[in-house]
Amino acid sequence: MKVSHIEHLGIAVNSIEEAIPYWENVLGLKCYAIEEVADQKVRTAFFMLGQTKIELLEATSEDSTIAKFIENKGIGIHHMALAVEGIEEQLADAEAQGIRLIDKTPRKGADDMTIAFLHPKSTQGILTELCEKK
Ligand code: ZN
Repeated sequence: MKVSHIEHLGIAVNSIEEAIPYWENVLGLKCYAIEEVADQKVRTAFFMLGQTKIELLEATSEDSTIAKFIENKGIGIHHMALAVEGIEEQLADAEAQGIRLIDKTPRKGADDMTIAFLHPKSTQGILTELCEKK
């Protein structure tokens, strides 16, 4: 595979409104977008930190994967997203190397990205998202 940098860190929060003051007031970052991704049952808030984004994730439904994650592990880092070019080829490459895919085909993510998740059981425990700018 070929990855260029950490595109974003996805962080599970109970409430975006409660979390934003830490990122803005303590760390001095600026929230530049809040967006709901209906099919993933999350609301997201984005900050820029160098070339890496911070993506806060709030569940919009009790059966959201974020709600389940927080129930099991509490709030905190949920996934790491790696920037790639040619996401289909990168996914095929990962699969060819025995990596378990959560998304067999890329789908639409937040912030104008095409995304696909790799299963943490085959990525050293880190839920890993590949993303490509549309
Ligand atoms: Zn993400």
